[in-house]
Amino acid sequence: MELTTPTPTVKGPEKNFTGDVYVNPIKKPAEPSRLIASIVRFTPGARTNWHSHALGQTLYCTDGAGLVVNRDGTVIRLTPGDTVWTPPGEEHWHGAGIDCMMSHIAMLEGTDTGDGATWLEPVTDEQYKQANQNS
Ligand code: MN
Repeated sequence: MELTTPTPTVKGPEKNFTGDVYVNPIKKPAEPSRLIASIVRFTPGARTNWHSHALGQTLYCTDGAGLVVNRDGTVIRLTPGDTVWTPPGEEHWHGAGIDCMMSHIAMLEGTDTGDGATWLEPVTDEQYKQANQNS
């Protein structure tokens, strides 16, 4: 058995996020397990860049309200207790609502070369506004 106590909160890097996002790792990859998990807290209006995950990603909302959006314009509204799966390679973003916080646990499997995430361009204010109107 191995206990991991909470590690310091890190700020989501500006190259991958818009707005203030705070990340606490829960589980780092350790062979033979490939599980990576973290709790991510988005402040109002904050969101990831567009991105995809090589082996997909499971998001479990623990607090607040937010959204997950893909390239075909599908918007899934997230509230506590909801789980969203994004399939391997599907480009998407996730974040808080305009005027509320949102926290989720992000779970994914790492690859031989890292966490398998491919980071793309920021979500524009227009894209963000549009997604909120459509949810
Ligand atoms: Mn994702």
